[in-house]
Amino acid sequence: MNADSILNGKCSIIDLNGGNIMGTVKIIQGDITKIKVDAIVNAANTTLLGGGGVDGAIHRAAGPQLLAECRTLHGCETGEAKITKGYLLPAQHVIHTLGPVWQGGTQREAQLLHNSYLNSLKRADENNCATVAFPSISTGVYHYPLKAAAEIALTTIHEFMRKTKVVKEVTMVCFDSATFTTYQQVEQKF
Ligand code: ADP
Repeated sequence: MNADSILNGKCSIIDLNGGNIMGTVKIIQGDITKIKVDAIVNAANTTLLGGGGVDGAIHRAAGPQLLAECRTLHGCETGEAKITKGYLLPAQHVIHTLGPVWQGGTQREAQLLHNSYLNSLKRADENNCATVAFPSISTGVYHYPLKAAAEIALTTIHEFMRKTKVVKEVTMVCFDSATFTTYQQVEQKF
């Protein structure tokens, strides 16, 4: 992990099963394109052909080969997740997921956001990724309310870490300080 990319940090250890440490959940503030993990997650769009926000930053940093592989995937449904290589990124893989657009909470947004995190973690598990980093899915241009999104993200991650034998460390990479503070506050409940 590039120390320059981290402005703040907090690390919480999930300690389950009579003291055997099952995994680590970290919350940091930084740029996900700088992080050296087995897989970073991209908050992509339905075409998987790049866009703004974190999606644009990941494609810029990974180079054109990422777009070429994404063209072979034929898009992504909301809540689904697909994996590619990381190309020029420090991360080995990119897991592309499509979070829901916030429409007031009446369009199964909570279930779909849960599915985005869960399916991303399943792709990591299937591909032997022990270390995974997420951005705050759907809370940018998709306008999902931040606190509610953080609760879904961290609940889904903690539940999954209790079951997996593959994924050992999940890092939430928060780009701005409001996102970082919110995820830190929600993480205190676990
Ligand atoms: P969505 O369409 O799912 O809302 P966005 O890319 O608009 O996706 O925003 C999701 C989150 O990613 C926002 O909190 C945004 O600030 C953040 N973000 C943008 N660039 C980066 C980056 N390089 N690293 C980590 N997070 C980022």
